[in-house]
Amino acid sequence: MTKKAQELKVLLSSPKKIVITTHKGPDGDAIGSSLGLLHLLKQLGHKVQIITPNEYAEFLHWLPGNSDVITYDGNEVKANKITNEAELIFLLDFSHLSRISTYADTIKNSNATKIMIDHHQDPDMDIADIIFSDISSCSTAQMVFEVMEAMNMTKYLNKAIAECLYVGIMTDTGSFKYASTSAKTHNVIAELINTGIENDKIHDLIYDNSSATRIQLLGYCLNEKLRLYPENNSAIISLTEDELKKFKFKKGDTEGFVNYALSIKGIKFAIFIAEKDGIVKLSLRSKGGFKVNKIANKYFSGGGHMNASGGVSEYSVNETIIKVEKILNKYKSELNKSK
Ligand code: 5GP
Ligand code: MN
Repeated sequence: MTKKAQELKVLLSSPKKIVITTHKGPDGDAIGSSLGLLHLLKQLGHKVQIITPNEYAEFLHWLPGNSDVITYDGNEVKANKITNEAELIFLLDFSHLSRISTYADTIKNSNATKIMIDHHQDPDMDIADIIFSDISSCSTAQMVFEVMEAMNMTKYLNKAIAECLYVGIMTDTGSFKYASTSAKTHNVIAELINTGIENDKIHDLIYDNSSATRIQLLGYCLNEKLRLYPENNSAIISLTEDELKKFKFKKGDTEGFVNYALSIKGIKFAIFIAEKDGIVKLSLRSKGGFKVNKIANKYFSGGGHMNASGGVSEYSVNETIIKVEKILNKYKSELNKSK
């Protein structure tokens, strides 16, 4: 870390044009780490633009600096121009260019020095010049804090940085409950809270600020769309585009639904399937040693972490359910192991 941090510190010692990007369908960690870094870099005198591949959930829009973000989708000409002029590009919370979809070619062809900060498995070491990769880390937001520490820059920590990094760490740790939540995580959180941020307000804005239709959609999922496979310790929840429409679906509304299936006693593998904009997406979650990233990678062109992954299906929602059921049977013995 130290040598790379030194290299980065040198790069940041004179004002630069900088782009920060993150993965498609940005989540709390993607946006929190990007905005946290933006607030640091701006204090250092850099010109910074965050470009996300596409839009993200409204519950993240209150974050400081949100209005500085542009999406690649719909702003291609402007985004390409800014990216081509950038001297440094930060790649946050992803480790393969396929994760930034149509923006990938522009990033690949840019001559900027690229810096990856990420906690996903098997990073592609060819896509960046300086790589901070820690697959044991709970979040990219925590890694951004650690890179700041390694560069001796915690003196720049302020409320804006702290709020953004807090959201990244909180959302990627399931509010500090996943195994990846370490003593270090709590130490970092303590330093963030010491800036004076209101942690209760942040939890409220992220988790307790839903539309009524979102909560009704959750009720519908749990009452009518939950399929249990006790013989395989698994559960599936699925939604078609029509069902989402009925509940006035907005981006982010189904975030966290998969965890309700996983919270049922005995369930070790939970699958959430939803059709959005004609694409059938899967969220896979597990408890214990069952590696859902292997399933996501092998069957659904996806990936992620051992206990939290995602991917896409080329089939309809109903066909995807059948495919998943076959997978559950195939992995029956693994799913019935005690750990
Ligand atoms: P979610 O289920 O919340 O969409 O995603 C959970 C995790 O799975 C994400 O943090 C990300 O690491 C990974 N993930 C989700 N979708 C994809 C995908 O399409 N491809 C890959 N490689 N990883 C994904
Ligand atoms: Mn993350």
